Amino acid sequence: MARRNKIYEGKAKIIYEGPEAGTIVQYFKDDATAFNAQKKDVIEGKGVLNNRLCEYFMVGLNQIGVPTHFIKRLNMREQLCKSCEIVPLEVIVRNYAAGTMSKRLGLEEGTQLPRPIVEYCYKDDSLGDPLVSEEHIAAFGWASQQDMDDILSLALRVNDFLSGVMYGVGIKLIDFKIEIGRVYDGDYQRLIVADEISPDSCRLWDMETGQKLDKDVFRRDLGNLADAYTEVATRLGVMPKTSTPITKPTLIN
Ligand code: 5GP
Repeated sequence: MARRNKIYEGKAKIIYEGPEAGTIVQYFKDDATAFNAQKKDVIEGKGVLNNRLCEYFMVGLNQIGVPTHFIKRLNMREQLCKSCEIVPLEVIVRNYAAGTMSKRLGLEEGTQLPRPIVEYCYKDDSLGDPLVSEEHIAAFGWASQQDMDDILSLALRVNDFLSGVMYGVGIKLIDFKIEIGRVYDGDYQRLIVADEISPDSCRLWDMETGQKLDKDVFRRDLGNLADAYTEVATRLGVMPKTSTPITKPTLIN
């Protein structure tokens, strides 16, 4: 059996070289981490759920013309993606105050914001991904002004798409994080949505009850994380209602 080349292992995913030039394989692990990996656990089935949910969101974005790195799901835990150079920023879009924004500005969690607010954090675990301004981004050359215009536009389009999809299944999209990749095409470069979109990187609250259906369940010890993600997948029609994904996830195509 041929051994694959591992390019990078992160907290929740492993990236392998893909079968063809310009591709990578993204493997979703069951590992859950929070607070810069100070809290860790293995949640059986999480990787399978995130792979499938990420596929669902990325396919939808591709279909409405928002470019992403996603090519196709390969199996339960892996997806084939375009390789790209990751812009060293976490792009966060917030519709309601929560998490670090609530702490920073003293806003009660769940307060609706006057409009979606986009924030940027510098991707560096050793620094705890600090919030940065466009001044920092320009001065340190992490992205050009043209890149920032494109990133803002991508972030807001993803927000409109995800908010609508979630609204349709009774879930409020509180906030989310995306990462952006650079792909080169001859003399040109384009920016695309990369990494993952899943309940690991979003805040999702049930519209009626306010129940949290995202990684805060793990961060704040609010119950079973796989159950929360299964609820999201079931509502979106990604998992059949009767499945028991914690031990044996079942996919429907
Ligand atoms: P906050 O800044 O409030 O901690 O996070 C805002 C949003 O971005 C949340 O939906 C959170 O899940 C997501 N987010 C922020 N940083 C990270 C990160 O390092 N990894 C993941 N998976 N999501 C993040």
